[in-house]
Amino acid sequence: MKRYRSILACLLAFVMAFIVGCGSPQVKEPPTYSDAQLQQIQKYESDILGLRDRMTTELPAYINTSKWVEVDNFVHGPLGTLLQEMNYLTKNLLPNDQPPARKLSREVFEHLLQVGEAAEKADRSLAASSYQAALEDLDAFLNLVPQASQAPKA
Ligand code: ZN
Repeated sequence: MKRYRSILACLLAFVMAFIVGCGSPQVKEPPTYSDAQLQQIQKYESDILGLRDRMTTELPAYINTSKWVEVDNFVHGPLGTLLQEMNYLTKNLLPNDQPPARKLSREVFEHLLQVGEAAEKADRSLAASSYQAALEDLDAFLNLVPQASQAPKA
């Protein structure tokens, strides 16, 4: 379990470094979304929603039945992908929306790291509360995502 944890921490740290490193706002971007940007954003959003579905069905089931290896695998597999997709989506947001999106990505990352730590300690209540916190921050992140109806009419 220790080894898993350090691999997980490294992987997630790498993803987060990437998120922070690539976050420079593009000052020349107009403050509205193009249709192409919205399409790109919607693609990432649907990937994220798919992973959210898996997260809300599979993860609580593993936590409730103390399947800690499965919890750990899930956190550094599908949920590593989730963080990556959040990163891609964030980079397509308007410059002003990127800092809060990055902050929420960071929160989700921290909470998921804690789910992994809870799995290592077989701490079901910590796993459950960290999972819940991750889900809340993920939903706050999704609230920042522009909807198709907000598309500028060119
Ligand atoms: Zn949080």
